[in-house]
Amino acid sequence: MQQPSGVSPHPRDSGREATARLAGGTSAWLPPDAAPAGGAVPPLTDRLLRSWLRCRRRAWLDRHGPPEARRWSAHRALTLQDQLHSFQSLLPTRPAHGEAAAQAGAEGVVGLRLRGAGPGGLRLEAHPPLLHRVEGPSRWGAHAYQPVLVRQGRHLTREHRLVLALWGRLLAAEQGAPVPHALVLAGAGHHLQRELLKLGGGLQQQLEEVLPRLAQELEVGREPPPLVNDRKKCTLCCWRSLCDREASAEGHLSEVSGIGGKRRDLLLSLGVTSLEQLAAADPQALANALEDHGEQHRNVAADLVAQARVQASGEPRRRAPGDPLPELAAAPGVLLYDIESDPDARDDFLHGLLRLERGEDGWPEAAGAARAPYHPLLALQEHGEERLWQRLSGLLERYPDWPLLHYGETEAISLLRLAERQGATEAERARLRRRLIDVHQRLKRHWLLPVNSYGLKAVATWLGFRWSQRGVDGARCLLWWRQWRQDRHRAGVPPRRAAQPLERIFRYNRDDSLATWAVARWLLEAAEPAPPSAATGSHRRGHEELRP
Ligand code: SF4
Repeated sequence: MQQPSGVSPHPRDSGREATARLAGGTSAWLPPDAAPAGGAVPPLTDRLLRSWLRCRRRAWLDRHGPPEARRWSAHRALTLQDQLHSFQSLLPTRPAHGEAAAQAGAEGVVGLRLRGAGPGGLRLEAHPPLLHRVEGPSRWGAHAYQPVLVRQGRHLTREHRLVLALWGRLLAAEQGAPVPHALVLAGAGHHLQRELLKLGGGLQQQLEEVLPRLAQELEVGREPPPLVNDRKKCTLCCWRSLCDREASAEGHLSEVSGIGGKRRDLLLSLGVTSLEQLAAADPQALANALEDHGEQHRNVAADLVAQARVQASGEPRRRAPGDPLPELAAAPGVLLYDIESDPDARDDFLHGLLRLERGEDGWPEAAGAARAPYHPLLALQEHGEERLWQRLSGLLERYPDWPLLHYGETEAISLLRLAERQGATEAERARLRRRLIDVHQRLKRHWLLPVNSYGLKAVATWLGFRWSQRGVDGARCLLWWRQWRQDRHRAGVPPRRAAQPLERIFRYNRDDSLATWAVARWLLEAAEPAPPSAATGSHRRGHEELRP
């Protein structure tokens, strides 16, 4: 058989077991069935490879971590949903299952588990989500297959390439024919993009180098690799809670709000290795040391030390005098504004407004706010933006003197752009701009808090606020949104059940507004001439009160 430049068949399994000696499970996390001492070493899988390429520690946890600490991820569910839509756009019919389907020459095959041997006899296993039929002889007849991957993001990453290389290698052995290319998809429907990736040469060489390193790090008895340097990567990881706890316990520098991967590297190079050390540093000396790496680093040195000190002490500290929310001094009420979006579709599908009136005794407490009228304005694309704007601007005009409070810049940007697209005049937009108050920005300008992030979740939780639905985030909300869009006109789905996802989205959106109010109220109270410690006392007071 001619050997093209792609991946050529390897023996299905050379029979050589991996020779890595199991070191006897010293980790407290090691589950009893992770890798039995003296037993067969579990194979390296495509999933482990993918995890390892994202974060070395993640692969270790996938194999040895406590299964109960793994969290379900709405983001993964969204990814699988996108993958399904891309596959449905590619194939005219449902894919068939397993070896029999490959034998029969089905256009799409799922459920084929591929096994083979890697460098040094490492046992390998992979489960590509879809194989696509191509022309060319294989052990199944006059047709062969290529693996299909759905790309998330704009570009193919190293992770995509190496996972495809592994699929190609094992598939070549399975079908007894080369796999010169993999098919990469992105988007769905009319927007489906296809790209062929060459699987030969350098990519296979990289795989040969990477697999033994992965195998070595997964050996029983090895300590887990350190937390990833850039902890932004942790946002979507199923091990996040576990790693967050560890980061907090060890005073990892990434716990200091404002320190990302690069800044952490810089601090480590200067011998500052933990939150406590940063808190103890002399700001001026640190600024001087950081100056060599750029003026921007010098300028933030004092802020980083101050933030670390606040986190180490657990006490908030005022960083600028004055009232953070002077616009509220004479306001008859506020509108709390929060948008839910589908970022991939660039669709702001819900504009939620909570109408909070000032009473004779002043601003309502949490319990009063929880009774405030809520206006969820759904923005269905099929209804057009004009209709949304009419409802939204009509509501805003009914309360012309009420400031519009939101957390983060998204709401202001989206609303002003919407107004512009809908023909609002410059004067109208300027008025709108004056009404918009970013509570997040005011908080950061006036206060340092003992939190590792100034995101709404972290800040409001520190204040004692609790969301009424546990574990919900933007990705979960987006899942509900897609589910509702799918089910609302589907025959056989009872109306009550079809409406449930939307009710959950409204609840989540309303809670976000209440959480924003919890922060705003704390700022109002803290603006009064009470010492910060008293303010701390007030935030600790009555967690129950803050429940929506
Ligand atoms: S949470 Fe972060 S450090 Fe932990 S395994 Fe995941 S990516 Fe790695």
